[in-house]
Amino acid sequence: MKARIKELRDEIDRINRELLALLSERGEIAREIGRLQTELGLSHYDPVREAEMLDYLTRENPGPFPAETIKHLFKEIFKASLTLEEAEDQKTFLYSKKAHPEPTIVEAGPARFGAEKLVIAGPCSIESAAQMEETAAFLAQKGVKVLRGGAFKPRTSPYAFQGLGVEGLKIGRAAADRHGMAFVTEVMDTRDVEVVAEYADILQIGARNMQNFALLKEVGRAKKPVLLKRGMSATIEEWFYAAEYILAQGNDRVILAERGIRTFEKWTRNTLDLSGAVLAKQETHLPVVVDVTHAAGRTDLLAPLARAALAAGVDAVHVEVHPNPLVALSDNRQQLDFAGFERFFEAIRDLLG
Ligand code: PEP
Ligand code: MN
Repeated sequence: MKARIKELRDEIDRINRELLALLSERGEIAREIGRLQTELGLSHYDPVREAEMLDYLTRENPGPFPAETIKHLFKEIFKASLTLEEAEDQKTFLYSKKAHPEPTIVEAGPARFGAEKLVIAGPCSIESAAQMEETAAFLAQKGVKVLRGGAFKPRTSPYAFQGLGVEGLKIGRAAADRHGMAFVTEVMDTRDVEVVAEYADILQIGARNMQNFALLKEVGRAKKPVLLKRGMSATIEEWFYAAEYILAQGNDRVILAERGIRTFEKWTRNTLDLSGAVLAKQETHLPVVVDVTHAAGRTDLLAPLARAALAAGVDAVHVEVHPNPLVALSDNRQQLDFAGFERFFEAIRDLLG
């Protein structure tokens, strides 16, 4: 008797294996159908076809399972197949490592974002040719390859210094050229993209414009790398979607910059979201920068935050440096003077290169 049970169980095992093989074959075919439907823009769920299948399955059901049980079992199979078909639909975002497993390297002047650890430094605003020359000369001699400086400034008050505009672009370009540096500067308006792209090596999209979709599309069409700052209240997903807008226009030279997010905290200007920067490294193939200046808004935190960011794997840190921060026309409490930058640089030097 026991031997007979064993024999029958062996039969069940054989049938289970055959069912598994058939289910897998069915799954592969469903997946192929899903791919074709996606290509043709057709919907995967076809209730008429499903009703037809259930109809003939119950009609041809030889028993011993009742029709309801057969229906129930096959409905589960249909559901699982639909999930497979829909999986084919899940768009692979251009920012994602799934679309591009190799890290993207963005070249700008002498800098190779993603291939070396970099420092971006320079004043918040470009104020004069002398200020930019002094700053560029000092930074270049330290080995800094990327010079920043705002010509179009997004100021909270409309009455605050708005930047020198095109004159500032010319000053920044000339200072960077004299010292063999790349020049990054913010563009705030679609109408300025062309002129900013003429002078800058990297177009910066500021935090306040991260979801200015017209601007994102416009820099996506520009033939220049883009430094995309995370909005101060943007989720990580929104930040990645903003990058997608640029990538989708055919510009694959996007650098992501975490610059602190707005929280309830008052002792820092913003809260550096290191998790956001690390997730950007993990989820995307794009180079990632941490802007410690705008994150902290105070100079005493810059070195420890930059060390943490570099140790966590980001590609570059960004700091504001001014020959005389006290008289700077913007962000004067958060910029480093040259001595401060020397201390900052010494403190992070072992993590660069
Ligand atoms: C800046 O870089 O000077 C600036 C305004 O930055 P954010 O857009 O991150 O505030
Ligand atoms: Mn600033």
